[in-house]
Amino acid sequence: MKKKLLMVALMSAAMGLASCGQQAASSPEGSHASVSESTSQSSESKESKESKESKESSVSTEASSVAHVHRWGAPTYTWGDEHADCTAKRVCLDDPTHVEEETATADVQTDPATCTEDGTATYTVTFENEAFEEQTFVDTLSATDHDWGDPEYTWNDDYSECTATRTCLNDSEHIETETVKSTYETAGHGDPTEEQGAFVNFIATFENEAFEQQIELEYLDCLPAMSKLFFSLNEDEESYSVSMNDSNISGCVRIPKEVNDLPVTAIESSGFFGTSITRVIIPSTVVSIGTSAFGACTALEKVDFEGEASGFTLGQGAFENCSKIERIYLPQSITEIPYRAFKNCSKLDYVDFVSLLKQVTVIGEEAYQDCGSLKTVVLSTTLTEIKSRAFDGCYQIEPFFWGYADDWAKLVIGEGAFPDTIAGVDSWEGTLPL
Ligand SMILES: [Zn+2]
Ligand SMILES: [Zn+2]
Repeated sequence: MKKKLLMVALMSAAMGLASCGQQAASSPEGSHASVSESTSQSSESKESKESKESKESSVSTEASSVAHVHRWGAPTYTWGDEHADCTAKRVCLDDPTHVEEETATADVQTDPATCTEDGTATYTVTFENEAFEEQTFVDTLSATDHDWGDPEYTWNDDYSECTATRTCLNDSEHIETETVKSTYETAGHGDPTEEQGAFVNFIATFENEAFEQQIELEYLDCLPAMSKLFFSLNEDEESYSVSMNDSNISGCVRIPKEVNDLPVTAIESSGFFGTSITRVIIPSTVVSIGTSAFGACTALEKVDFEGEASGFTLGQGAFENCSKIERIYLPQSITEIPYRAFKNCSKLDYVDFVSLLKQVTVIGEEAYQDCGSLKTVVLSTTLTEIKSRAFDGCYQIEPFFWGYADDWAKLVIGEGAFPDTIAGVDSWEGTLPL
């Protein structure tokens, strides 16, 4: 009877156990379940001791300071300095002196920040105690921003444009660049006219505030006489042709590369015919010079081509009667010297189809007729035809045929191409004439 009563008391202890049951099930380390087992199998002396405890617990489970199944509170997690570690902790709801605590070191995975994009550092801790969940903390690494090197500035050939560039020291693919058109102001004394040339301050001003205004002092021997030039839009509507706007144009004329952001590609037929210009500077954007463009420019001494135009063509009589030109270095892409191109250029003294006019195949009729000062003419085997009267009247001419006799077999020489004084040339029949 007494023993049966004891069993009831044990049962109630077991019932008390069941009231924390879920916790006990999920927490295998909650070892108080062994109490009932050991009790039921039990020796007499232990049994009586246990029964005493069980009686007490059955009387007052709440106040129990003896063995019980913990009812753990929710775990708390506390990160250490700089997330190097994390401490997990849980406290028994029934007795705050029952504490489980574990500190684990964090693993760090870093996705580094770039100049423009934030990165992350992900800290992860896992605990041995399965009651504690894995913790992660993601820290944002702020974008570093660019670390720009000093800007560099480059001017183009004619100082019409300046380019500023700066490169990031963190990543050389980070580049800021800006190209601007320059303005210019004349510098120094006097009031040089557009044709005379002058010291000029070229000024480049950038939108990017990181770039400083650039000022370059240069002597410009020939300013673009824009007010004296006339530009007409070509049919392609993507380029301009230039001619004079004022027949009184004189001195040096610099043809600009561009007008209204479109290239100047042609000099119009008769564009500067009969004017008093002394020098013309032609940019490489110009690929054609029209018929009689500079005809009868009797003051014209210098024709400067800046850079090499491709597919360059010259019009008939383009420089006819330019009696002051001694030498002219045409773009090397020219393939034909047309009719009367240099007729009566009485000071022209040298023409070279070997090292300069390498691609010319045809010398047109009267191309160099009456060039009375023309002495040295170096002729190349690339020539296929020297047309009638090409060098007629060039009484000082000393043509030099460069190459082997066989290479000249395809050359056709027109009637009166050379002056009568040069024996054999007119009767050219496929052998070296001189
Ligand atoms: Zn507890
Ligand atoms: Zn950068």
